[in-house]
Amino acid sequence: MQTKENMQYFIKTFGCQMNEHDSEIIAGILDSAGYQPASDISAADVIIINTCCIRESAENKIWGYIGNLKACKYRKPGVILAAVGCMMQQKTLGELLQRQGRHLDIVLGTYQQHRLPEYITRVLAGEGPIVDISEDNSDFPDELPSRRQSSFAAQVNIIYGCNNFCSYCIVPYVRGRERSRDFAAIMAELCSLAASGIKEVMLLGQNVNSYGKDWRRQGRTDAPDFADLLREACSVDGLERIRYMSSHPRDFSLDLVDTISDLPKIRDYYHLPLQSGCDKILKAMNRGYNTDDYLAIIERIRQKTPTAAITTDLIVGFPGETEADFQQTLDFVNKCRFDAAYTFLYSPRSGTPAATMAEQVPLNIKKKRLQRLTMLQNQISLELNQSYLGRKVQVLVEGLSKNNSDFYTGRTASNKIVIFKGQPEQIGQIVDLTISGAKTWHLEAL
Ligand code: SF4
Repeated sequence: MQTKENMQYFIKTFGCQMNEHDSEIIAGILDSAGYQPASDISAADVIIINTCCIRESAENKIWGYIGNLKACKYRKPGVILAAVGCMMQQKTLGELLQRQGRHLDIVLGTYQQHRLPEYITRVLAGEGPIVDISEDNSDFPDELPSRRQSSFAAQVNIIYGCNNFCSYCIVPYVRGRERSRDFAAIMAELCSLAASGIKEVMLLGQNVNSYGKDWRRQGRTDAPDFADLLREACSVDGLERIRYMSSHPRDFSLDLVDTISDLPKIRDYYHLPLQSGCDKILKAMNRGYNTDDYLAIIERIRQKTPTAAITTDLIVGFPGETEADFQQTLDFVNKCRFDAAYTFLYSPRSGTPAATMAEQVPLNIKKKRLQRLTMLQNQISLELNQSYLGRKVQVLVEGLSKNNSDFYTGRTASNKIVIFKGQPEQIGQIVDLTISGAKTWHLEAL
């Protein structure tokens, strides 16, 4: 008879940083319930797939992975297979899995992942398959345990869900409306992370700038906002760097820039997703700002902290994007001069307004535009990186370089990757380096 005390779990994570942190929480919940982490999938008694539905390509990959897991049931009868996360929250998929994914024992949406131990127990008792994609989050705990991957950098949820409904995005449909996490619970987590030696914290949410707005909509006029949270987070001794993701230009006020520019632990790096440099496309995307609004934020950042690095996200080939519209994006990128841009081909997500818009852009045109945008951005990135030559920087050392194990890798306060000859004992420390080389995607140091 299997009992949870001798059972091991394995988590396979797809998708973004929020999903990675969700997996850390799932691991923490299972640890607290008495389960043990498995060294690899073949040793596991419970296999959890944390899914992502942000892009069609990710979804196809996950379907393939889930299909292959059927073999685990033959190899190890009694193994429990659970699929959780965004893709499962899509009701049609949940229902489909109930019919076609019989080898899955548990399917949980984004609101119910904290119930995993309870459902494993029920499956062990003979129940199943269990599908829970309920959107009732009334008992979602503010404090959940977490098994963190890093001993010096951590992620902390501050807000769940999104109210923005960008016309291409599935997230509000699978993560629900904005729910800010209790201020005191966040601060307690930050203090405990600092006490455990964590140096860098990433505050996570689909739209972190909205922190506290849900409370103010409910009439709590004294509720803290994102600026309050940043100020307080920066006051925690031991935390050297505070980052946040994702932020939305619609909610990024000039006052917020002023607040950040007074906070040395944050002010050197901004990530502000632009998505398009064409006002017509921004409107069709339902982004809620235009290029003038966006430029005002960039100018304020550069006025207050001239050395801050600014990165962005851009989507190429949104429905209706003409050559002239795309050229406006290239021109705007030239004007903003981002340190880096994460560029994506538009991918239709079923259930979003953009998926059924007329004038979908053919794939070959999208690919050619992406190539042109990448070339332009690479040139700008290289030029901006060259401006670091000879500069002294402080680098939080992350570990060995993935591409060359003779070197170490770390990041500056402005989030630039630095490759350098280091020492193992420097991992997790902040070291002073002088930049001696500049490439498109990274810097090199003595
Ligand atoms: S802000 Fe827009 S892109 Fe970001 S999660 Fe919300 S709807 Fe999606």
